Amino acid sequence: MRVGIGYDLHGFVEGRPLVLGGVEVPYPRGLRGHSDADVLTHAVIDALLGAAALGTIGEHFPDTDPRYAGVSSLVLLDETVRLVAEAGYLVVNVDSVITAQEPRLHLGTMAQTLAGRLGVEASSVGVKATSPEGLGAMGRREGIAAQAVALLETRE
Ligand code: MG
Repeated sequence: MRVGIGYDLHGFVEGRPLVLGGVEVPYPRGLRGHSDADVLTHAVIDALLGAAALGTIGEHFPDTDPRYAGVSSLVLLDETVRLVAEAGYLVVNVDSVITAQEPRLHLGTMAQTLAGRLGVEASSVGVKATSPEGLGAMGRREGIAAQAVALLETRE
């Protein structure tokens, strides 16, 4: 068994859709980034890579690579799952927390979407959200942060 942790933070920007856990969330602003800036999926990817000691999201999907411009982070997650499997691991479960002052989020849809890409049951993916209570950058609605942990087991 191997555990990994991931953390990510993106600032809001005008004129982009807000995508969290592969789900488009109705909101006037999106997140700034090279890909679709899906902060939750990025945290999950780094947790998976960390658990398998496979480096970081920035190493595998550099923001200087035009192939990843505007790409859905679910595509990056698919590739991460492939790398993790190739290294000899299966995903046991993932848990995560989004820190956002707003908007209201449909966490179950995100968990189902991520579980589908991870190849696990929806009950093996946790997506939670916490309000920063108006404190700090997230509290000022400057962006959204996400943390994730992933547990892997060796394939038989
Ligand atoms: Mg990111």
